[in-house]
Amino acid sequence: MQNPFIFAMKNLTTAAKLLKLKPKFVAALKKPEHIWNVEIPVVRDNKKTETFHGYRVQYSGARGPYKGGIRFHPATDLNEVKALAFWMAVKCATVGIPYGGAKGGITVDPKQLSHGELERLTRAYTRALYDYIGPEKDIPAPDVNTNPHMMAWMMDEFSKIRGCNVPGVVTGKPLEIGGSQGREEATGRGGFYVLEELAKKLKLNPKKTRVIVQGFGNVGYHFARFAYKAGYQIIGLSDSQGGILSLDGTSMDPENVMASKLKRGRIHGCYCIGSVCDCVHFTQVTNEELLTTPCDVLVPAALENQLTKQNAKQVKARVVLELANGPTTPDADIIFKRKKIILVPDVLANAGGVTVSYFEWVQNLQNFYWTAAEVDARLKPIMVRAFNEVWEMAAKKKTTLRMGAYCVAIERIARAMELRGMV
Ligand code: NAD
Repeated sequence: MQNPFIFAMKNLTTAAKLLKLKPKFVAALKKPEHIWNVEIPVVRDNKKTETFHGYRVQYSGARGPYKGGIRFHPATDLNEVKALAFWMAVKCATVGIPYGGAKGGITVDPKQLSHGELERLTRAYTRALYDYIGPEKDIPAPDVNTNPHMMAWMMDEFSKIRGCNVPGVVTGKPLEIGGSQGREEATGRGGFYVLEELAKKLKLNPKKTRVIVQGFGNVGYHFARFAYKAGYQIIGLSDSQGGILSLDGTSMDPENVMASKLKRGRIHGCYCIGSVCDCVHFTQVTNEELLTTPCDVLVPAALENQLTKQNAKQVKARVVLELANGPTTPDADIIFKRKKIILVPDVLANAGGVTVSYFEWVQNLQNFYWTAAEVDARLKPIMVRAFNEVWEMAAKKKTTLRMGAYCVAIERIARAMELRGMV
């Protein structure tokens, strides 16, 4: 795989040129503030000790405590974690929440570990990083292959060492131990608010706007649900095994598709729920076919590197709304720009998740918890304002929305560095 940190730095350089940023800021932003490498010995169930390698990259703390998830993956390496940490700094600055950026990871295939081994690994990683994380320093969260239960272990391990309950050390916790209402659907909901703002700019009528969503997990499902309820025409959905496409433009109800997926373990084919049988309207497609089907809004919500030099030319959407992290390669970005496809970047479109994580942390610090309606009432204005700031910046700099978001974010980070005398 190509080095994602090189991609990240290319985007930084382009944004810095557009902003006419002084070289001292660019030089400082090309290096993470801290890189922690940790060796994590874990006693396996067979009583043998295996040592795993873990990272925490604290990229920029100019705007607030470091913030970012933890990934457990066999391909995780330092370059990936550095890129993800930089993108977290950009994301938090794009939506204006008072955090810097960080990311963590362990090079491990979690599917090869038992529940007990995963718990020991997560707790040992927390102990190794104890001095560098905390509610005032750096607040991890779940990412690929990590989940609320693991956040509970991290919170518990950190609290044991500190000698008191410290829920604000991580976000994405289960509700019972300080998680936030609305966190589960926050990324999809935030992405929907971004779509609504874009629809105003492009004068899209939901009833005539065909939407295809790749990825039917946490993010894709909730996004599709909100869009469907608002009247958008959901004409294609997929998961890792394949997808369904509407033959005649009939919109599919994501709740029915999810009910069918839970029953059958897959969404491809068509579905029959109770008296509703949509086999007449829907047909089975591959993921590749789904991505190149004509539509108005294509929403990659699965994995990175899905829209590439190989398939970008065949994409027939008016808008690409990136809900996954890094679904579009830089080559595909160039092709979309040439084809005048409007791309709403991940650092804006999927920032609803980190925004509600920020709310979770605020609630933990105050020990005062909000209702789901209160969470939503605070999320919407942040997403709406961020979209409009990015849109205006892109227009001012005559650039793409991705570069508009980078310009908004890098300008904010650089200003904070300057005010603090960090450069
Ligand atoms: P998830 O594991 O819940 O869902 C991923 C979905 O993608 C699953 O339905 C899976 O079957 C599907 N998928 C996997 N490979 C696929 C492929 N090749 N083609 C089509 N579908 C495929 O994960 P999630 O939490 O929904 O995250 C999805 C993306 O959004 C990731 O890039 C993640 O980093 C990003 N993201 C998530 C959040 C969050 O709050 N969960 C926040 C910001 C960004």
